[in-house]
Amino acid sequence: MPIDPKLPYDDDNIFAKILRGELPCNKVYEDEHVLAFHDIRPQAPVHVLVIPKDRFVSWDDFTAKGSDAQIAGFMRGVGEVTRLLQLDTPGYRLMVNMGEHGHQEVPHLHVHIFGGRRFYQMISD
Ligand code: 5GP
Repeated sequence: MPIDPKLPYDDDNIFAKILRGELPCNKVYEDEHVLAFHDIRPQAPVHVLVIPKDRFVSWDDFTAKGSDAQIAGFMRGVGEVTRLLQLDTPGYRLMVNMGEHGHQEVPHLHVHIFGGRRFYQMISD
């Protein structure tokens, strides 16, 4: 079910538990700003999620309330992950689902990195 992005941050969401080490993840990269791990239900040969370590519900929440340092750190972290995965030359796709129409299911901001194949259609349904 898509989330209501206007609800306050839920410290019991799955990604908060992964950040606290209460649930496992298949980690790809970590620095002071971000944690990146493989999606549990990959939709491409490479499907990695990058999350900020700070408590933000959504892209909207983050871009409204995140500090310049938090936003810069997160963006740079996404770039570190794509280079680490050597996706920069063949290319890749980034996606952020936001709120009900975006079909966001986990109420902690995350960027999807898709790679390992060529993508064609922008949106399939
Ligand atoms: P959203 O629709 O919120 O943008 O995407 C949430 C993503 O989180 C989905 O692609 C889903 O497969 C992934 N996901 C949900 N629960 C877990 C989990 O416990 N571990 C990992 N690694 N991914 C998860």
